[in-house]
Amino acid sequence: MIFTRFVKRYIYNLALSRNNVFISIQQREFQEFMKLIFVTGGVVSSLGKGLTAASLGALLENQGLKVGLCKMDPYLNVDPGTMSPSQHGEVYVLNDGAETDLDLGHYERFTHAVLTRRNSVSSGQIYETVLRKERNGDYLGNTVQVIPHVTDEIKSRILSGWSDDVDVVIAEIGGVVGDIEGLPFLEALRQISQELGHGNVLFIHVTLLPYLKASEELKSKPSQQSVAKLREIGIQPDILICRTEVPMDESIRRKLSLYCNVPTSAVIEEQDVQHSIYELPLCLHKEHLDSLVLSKLGLPIKEPSLSVWEEIVNRIKAPKHHVRIGVVGKYMEVRDAYKSIYEALFHAGIANECKVDVVPIDSEQLEQGDAALILQGLNGILVPGGFGARGIEGKMQAIRYAREQKIPYLGICLGMQLAVIEFARHVLGYSDANSTEMDTKTTHPVVSLMEQQKQQQEMGGTMRLGAADCLLAEKSLIRKVYGQADISERHRHRYEFNSAYAEAFESAGMRLVGKQPTSGLIEAIELPEHPWFIGVQFHPEFQSKPHRPHPLFAGFVKAAMDCKTKKER
Ligand code: GLN
Repeated sequence: MIFTRFVKRYIYNLALSRNNVFISIQQREFQEFMKLIFVTGGVVSSLGKGLTAASLGALLENQGLKVGLCKMDPYLNVDPGTMSPSQHGEVYVLNDGAETDLDLGHYERFTHAVLTRRNSVSSGQIYETVLRKERNGDYLGNTVQVIPHVTDEIKSRILSGWSDDVDVVIAEIGGVVGDIEGLPFLEALRQISQELGHGNVLFIHVTLLPYLKASEELKSKPSQQSVAKLREIGIQPDILICRTEVPMDESIRRKLSLYCNVPTSAVIEEQDVQHSIYELPLCLHKEHLDSLVLSKLGLPIKEPSLSVWEEIVNRIKAPKHHVRIGVVGKYMEVRDAYKSIYEALFHAGIANECKVDVVPIDSEQLEQGDAALILQGLNGILVPGGFGARGIEGKMQAIRYAREQKIPYLGICLGMQLAVIEFARHVLGYSDANSTEMDTKTTHPVVSLMEQQKQQQEMGGTMRLGAADCLLAEKSLIRKVYGQADISERHRHRYEFNSAYAEAFESAGMRLVGKQPTSGLIEAIELPEHPWFIGVQFHPEFQSKPHRPHPLFAGFVKAAMDCKTKKER
């Protein structure tokens, strides 16, 4: 079966590479090709399409299928790496160093899919490729157009490059149906469904049912209109997933079914979850989404065993402990800006049967107000990654407070660099110590630009990105926390601990406990005199999952719990 698939995909890729998409292949050839599920969104953005796609992925994996996931973003940036977190939310980094949309974080947290840069597609990438091909003469003699050249490129990204054992691909289209820039993507999907035929392709439209409090009713009109927009393009959704604050009744299901042209059984309720997003796979299973999708794709349906998700949800519902963790950053009003950090803290709560209350603290407010007053009562302090000088003094006030008051501290990337600078200023007495990112003239550049970054001119995709090995020092706290010496974590930075200062720091009491084995770059620091103070140059948050909480976050929350108990005694 896998062999025939391989041959078919080979022929298919050959056709694609010759810009001859589908011409030589008959529809029936695709019967053993992977199945495709397209997820579109209607009415408003930030509907939770990514979470829905990820939860469906989890349900299909539960059925023994190998799932592939990808996100198509219609914006013109090549990737979100150059966008501000306040506009776009966090930049999620994959093992291969791709800077991607935060939805890929949901995919990794909910499923076992191995994601690479191929799984994050933007209009910017599509146009870049098409224009390169045009200059190369690949379209010689032709007028280069959105249809077929841009749409062919989109189709090629969706259909090729999957490993041969992938059974189902879930492709999510960013934005909302009706956006001008999303049109080429929808046209490409329409063409694919036409060419691969019914039963191989499924359209799921995630939509919002607004609730009017005054009349106590859910409204279906915006959803009807967004489905009408899809049908205008030639796409008839097979399944409607309705985001709603309150339960749907039979009458609204019937209305949506009638006006949107889907059977009532394919109108799925997705009510706001009560405790956490990790309830979603169970909620969607209750609505029979998994069996509906499988039957529509002609795939066998097995009795699911969702005990892993049940166990997670049970632990979330009945925590035995409670801690307050201050996260000090500069985009505190945008929850998505530190998405993976918040998720990793949540997972650490699951690991410790502990409710982790995240207290978002704006670092600039610490600069203006009484820092000790703002920070009092916290059981742990975390400073996440960041760029630029704004707010760093406030972050360092928080770090100093954690260091001096013996509050557990976890510094991530910039959070580690600032812990180094704070230590240099207040323990080593280098009063103007800084990172050369913030002050090029500092007499003590304890954090400085990495050697390989010095020649970089372009901003996009040029940082030190992706997974790298790290060796943890013997008898260190961090090694104990990980339970092993060799680790691999993901990076996204240009600056690094300046090893010219290694001796000065070590002799003043800061241990350099993580090193990249080949380059010798310092990847982790800790304070042995402190109950729990660790800074890491990498981003452990990207590898935490609800069923596999990251040891560093789990250890940090445990330390916060211990610190709290000690204080209460
Ligand atoms: N701005 C710092 C650097 O580039 C830290 C980056 C980060 O926190 N992701 O090195």
